[in-house]
Amino acid sequence: MGEVVPNAAHEALARLDATWPGELLIVTQNVDDLHERAGAKRLVHMHGKLLRGWCLACDGRFGWAAPMGEEAVCPACDAAGAVRPDIVWFGEMPYEMERIETALRSCDLFVSIGTSGAVYPAAGYVQTAKYCGARTVEINLAPSLGSVMFDEVRIGRAGVEVPRLVGELLAPL
Ligand SMILES: [Zn+2]
Repeated sequence: MGEVVPNAAHEALARLDATWPGELLIVTQNVDDLHERAGAKRLVHMHGKLLRGWCLACDGRFGWAAPMGEEAVCPACDAAGAVRPDIVWFGEMPYEMERIETALRSCDLFVSIGTSGAVYPAAGYVQTAKYCGARTVEINLAPSLGSVMFDEVRIGRAGVEVPRLVGELLAPL
């Protein structure tokens, strides 16, 4: 993570976040901090953050940038061996599901960017948004498994297609 930087898609979403006067929620499955580094604020990390630790002894969560061994010591309660990365592993419930669900049910536009559409619950988001009346757009390198649920499919790199879409959204403002 120390060797990568936000790309044009992260930058465009941060620009949309900073400029869009209405409701907006960026929901990412990524555990890196590239959206934050690009400047995004209205952001949900549904699979947690790699730069955070979670202590199973005291339930504390805290920034953690160093390597994390099995005997890692919790900075909050000093317990050893109870700290894990604050990320969602397979079989665990993603974070902030209610907030995401509320956004899906109320949004006018749902955009899926760079996902296979193969892993639930995220794979079902387009269905919820569409049934609740949203226009749905997919941006991906190839049509996803759920591409029939999208009103529009834009095939291409996120670094190209996301800035283009954000430009279209912000042009009337
Ligand atoms: Zn602790």
